[in-house]
Amino acid sequence: MKKQFALLLFFIFPAFLLMAPHEGMAAAKGPSAKKFDVVASIFPVADMVRNVGGSRVGVYTLLPPGANEETYEPPVSAFKALSGARAFFMIGAGLEVWAKRLLAAAPSGIRKVVLSQGMPLIGEGPGGVANPHVWLDPVLAIGMVRRIENALSAMDPAGASYYRGNAARYIGRLKALDSEVRRTVSAFRIKSLVSFHAELDYFARRYGLRIAGVVEGSPGKEPTPRKLEALIKAIKEDGIRAVFTDEQLNPRPAQIIAGEAGVKVVMLDVIGGLPGRDSYIKMMEFNLARMKEVMG
Ligand SMILES: [Zn+2]
Repeated sequence: MKKQFALLLFFIFPAFLLMAPHEGMAAAKGPSAKKFDVVASIFPVADMVRNVGGSRVGVYTLLPPGANEETYEPPVSAFKALSGARAFFMIGAGLEVWAKRLLAAAPSGIRKVVLSQGMPLIGEGPGGVANPHVWLDPVLAIGMVRRIENALSAMDPAGASYYRGNAARYIGRLKALDSEVRRTVSAFRIKSLVSFHAELDYFARRYGLRIAGVVEGSPGKEPTPRKLEALIKAIKEDGIRAVFTDEQLNPRPAQIIAGEAGVKVVMLDVIGGLPGRDSYIKMMEFNLARMKEVMG
C-alpha cells in the first residue's frame, strides 16, 4: 500500500519537486538540457557524477540498493543501459569484477573512467590484493570528483566551465564532510574497530583509527573458528563495543562474534541510495553517527 502511494506521487508531481535542492540548483544554472548519458557502477559514483554533470548528463546506476558491490550479477537491463551510454564510471582496483562482461558487450567507443586510477592502494603489491574501498575516504573522494570533472569536460568541452563550477561547489561540501568526520572521530574514546569485509581500511587510515580485525576477508567468506577466537580476543582487549556489518551482506558471522564477545552489532552502509542515505555525503554522515554511538 505504501509503495503504491509512493508510485502515485511520482506520477502526479513534477520531477523537479522531488529533486534534492542542490540538484535543482544545478539544473537551473545549466546552460541547456541533457547532452548525453553515462553509466555508473555503484551509487556513490553515480551521486558524484550527478553533482558534477548536473543537468547536462544523464546518469544510470548499475548496482541496485541493497546489493553488494563485489558479488553483484548484472541483469539484462544493465547491458541495455550500457549500450546507450557514452561513458562508464567505475571505482576499479578490482571492485567491479562483474563489469568485465558488461564492458566486453558495450559499444567500442564507450569511455571507461576508472576513479581509483593513480591512487596508492592499500594491500597492493607482490602477492597482495588491492583494497577497492577508496570512496569511503572523503579526501580520496575529492580526487575522484576531479577525475569525473576532467572526463566530462573531455567528452563535452562546451560544458567544461559548467562542470568546473559544479565540481568546485561539490568539493567544498566534501571538504566540509572531511572536517566534520575529523572533528567527530578525534573525540572518539575508542579508536579501534572490527570491520565487516575490510571496507573501512581507507577511512581508518585517514582518521587515525585502528582495524583490530575483519570478519570476512572477502565478501561472503565466513571466518574460521580460529579467526573467530582471535576476533573475540581483540574485541575484549581493545574495549570494542560493537562489530560492524554491512547493509549489503549477510550479518550472521558478525552476529555470532558479537554474541560471543558480548557486544552489539551495528550496521553500516557503504553503498547508500536508500532513504536517509540518498547521497554520498548523507551516507557518510549516517555511518559516522553509527560509529559515534559505539565509539564516541
Ligand atoms: Zn566491499
